[in-house]
Amino acid sequence: MLMNINDFIMTNEMPIRLGFFFGIFALMAVWELVSPRRRLHTSKVIRWTNNLGLVFFNSFVLRLVFPAAAVGMAAFAAEQGWGLFNYINTPFWMAAVASVVIMDFFIWLQHVMVHAVPVLWRLHRVHHADLDYDVTTGARFHTLEILLSMVIKFAVIMLLGPPIVAVVLFEVILNATAMFNHSNVRLPETVDRFLRLILVTPDMHRVHHSIEDDETNSNFGFSLPWWDRLFGTYRAQPRAGHEGMTIGIRTFREDKWCSWLPGMLAIPFVGKVQDYAINRRQWRDEHEQ
Ligand SMILES: [Zn+2]
Ligand SMILES: [Zn+2]
Repeated sequence: MLMNINDFIMTNEMPIRLGFFFGIFALMAVWELVSPRRRLHTSKVIRWTNNLGLVFFNSFVLRLVFPAAAVGMAAFAAEQGWGLFNYINTPFWMAAVASVVIMDFFIWLQHVMVHAVPVLWRLHRVHHADLDYDVTTGARFHTLEILLSMVIKFAVIMLLGPPIVAVVLFEVILNATAMFNHSNVRLPETVDRFLRLILVTPDMHRVHHSIEDDETNSNFGFSLPWWDRLFGTYRAQPRAGHEGMTIGIRTFREDKWCSWLPGMLAIPFVGKVQDYAINRRQWRDEHEQ
């Protein structure tokens, strides 16, 4: 039975992923139209063509560089008997659930790391330079960050030896929750409060896209909200409120960098790290006396 599930997933991975991607995307896009949280700064046509252009370009490059992807790595680890769950005998469902949760923790850790290490922040700031926050922001990452994520995922899979089903499940969940929690939607306050006990909500992750340093350095979670609460990086709301807060980063405010694809791809290579630190200090001196 298990063999059949694995075969099914290996042969239908693409349609499963695309089905979920377009399904959730369409759902969130309609929700954003019906009940938007904030007014957008840049036109939707420009944002969507450029953000989604980057997403499709990334998918293409990823397939080219790592054709077997994470699922292939999980199958390889299983064959070789590598990783915790290929080594110890665990009930299938337990290994699957634990794998999804553990992989989510590593994504959280990776996210903290790309904020803390200057050269990695250069890549990650493409995600944060978006002047608005909507469903397309959730998938907008620099190509090199996407490749780096895959390499880290390979390493985690080799150590963990997760069931193949868990890897696909994890990726589909991450993709779906990223689109959900980046979307420009309004959830009733009580719903948000309950939902964020088990899931990162749009209001929770929006805090992370604030221009304020201390707010950016909080709420690193993508799917599960527990890691931020556990490690003290949880922040309930932005100081200026969700409508009043400024989205993005201080060093990139022009559409040329923030909204157009060539600029986005160039962002990691712009400016010296030193300049960046000085810019931030200058900005603070001018604005925060
Ligand atoms: Zn971030
Ligand atoms: Zn984000």
